[in-house]
Amino acid sequence: MESHKPFSYNPQEVPPILNQPQSTQPLIILAPLNVLGKSSSMATCPSCGVRGKTKVEYEASNKTHLLALLICLVGGVCCVCCPYCNDSCQSANHTCSSCGAYVGTFKN
Ligand SMILES: [Zn+2]
Repeated sequence: MESHKPFSYNPQEVPPILNQPQSTQPLIILAPLNVLGKSSSMATCPSCGVRGKTKVEYEASNKTHLLALLICLVGGVCCVCCPYCNDSCQSANHTCSSCGAYVGTFKN
């Protein structure tokens, strides 16, 4: 009997395909969350998409009025304006420096 040698296919001998064509799919870069502080922060504008430093305008919040009332009761009328002068007592409204769109508010 003559053994007929079948065609053996050894998958390990097949060289791996190294030069796979690079996919040209566009990279989807997720914009980092806008972390807004009480001062000008890096943020991505939801309106024009420009990422940059925001413009900040301070606005008296309810907490400011409450603090002013408290100071009025405790320290007297002359100290009432203190929380309005102190940025840390006010909420910071961030707007886009490019188009002026509202980006977000930082509340203390
Ligand atoms: Zn903008």
